[in-house]
Amino acid sequence: MKKIIQDLSYAEIEALVTQLGEKKFRAKQLFEGLHQGKNISDITSLSKAFKERLLEEYEDAAIRVKEVFHSADGTEKYLFEFADGNLVEGVLMKYKYGYTQCVSTQVGCRMGCKFCASTLNGLIRNLTAGEILSQILVVNALHKEDIKAGQGAQARAVCNVVLMGSGEPLDNYDEVVRFLKNATAEGGVQISARNISLSTCGIVPKMYALADEGIPLNLTVSLHATDDETRARVMPIAKAYKIADILKACKYYFNKTGRRYYFEYTLIDGENCDEQHAKALVRLLKGLPCHVNLIRLNEVKERSLKSTSDKAAYRFLGTLEKGGLSATLRRQIGVDIGGACGQLRAQYLEKGK
Ligand code: SAH
Repeated sequence: MKKIIQDLSYAEIEALVTQLGEKKFRAKQLFEGLHQGKNISDITSLSKAFKERLLEEYEDAAIRVKEVFHSADGTEKYLFEFADGNLVEGVLMKYKYGYTQCVSTQVGCRMGCKFCASTLNGLIRNLTAGEILSQILVVNALHKEDIKAGQGAQARAVCNVVLMGSGEPLDNYDEVVRFLKNATAEGGVQISARNISLSTCGIVPKMYALADEGIPLNLTVSLHATDDETRARVMPIAKAYKIADILKACKYYFNKTGRRYYFEYTLIDGENCDEQHAKALVRLLKGLPCHVNLIRLNEVKERSLKSTSDKAAYRFLGTLEKGGLSATLRRQIGVDIGGACGQLRAQYLEKGK
């Protein structure tokens, strides 16, 4: 596999351009072209000879859209293929205020959460920063007609990004941070860090490191339980990091960035969503500068865990609100196209295509 040019920052593109004997202003043309979702060979402002020289070392396209599935509610699910043939998926959710794209950070995952399809075959490999970024660049380019923000090279249909596809972002820390810097850099696709949410299963030391990067993104922690024992039953990582330590890291994040943080709480029948759990969640989080997103479990056929009823989900939400927590129950969209993490890739691999 050749190198991925979308891994490079603007300064690195500048160095590359000069090193190859081109004028410095070519860096702007190259960086902008790439951030508009173009392949190297499609950037018309660059000479054929220069592009051929680049193509000796770099992949022309970091990523290819292998398939797109359209849900009746407008949601689009993507199956992406990388140069080495690996597959990941992504989701585009169309909200009135702009599009939100869910991107993957790893091929597979090694965290082993019991409800999640991404982890079924373990971790295959980390994605590079440019492979993460390119998921956004290609989808953005496919939706030119729906531009909601920015102008020129920064014109964007995709306004919000959530790192909630396959993979654990903080298990691929360096590439994810590089991605965050490149995606928010001036002159590129320039997504606002405030519109990026990074979701983690709670790798505590990396949460501290992320806070120290000073990127004002939305930090989201997958909690899914109110005590360590229950949490460890569904999330093996809970054996390494305790809820109390996660809360301390969140506090540090808030003190460093001034940003409130988020918790994801997936409602799993018979496991974590009775009245007693809702009350325990209130006791755990009351008074903290946080917001809770409740998710109804998207049942994965390889797993036995069951989703809860709508009635129980609203009752749970009601208890949180009465207890003074800021909380929402996520609307379920895209379920008809395998919207949950890793479901589509798992189906695809199973078909043996
Ligand atoms: N590794 C990161 C990102 C994963 S996906 C993390 O753990 O946060 C984003 C969210 O979807 C997480 O909260 C994850 O726990 C949740 N999730 C995964 N599979 C799910 C499923 N089948 N149904 C509902 N939520 C799921």
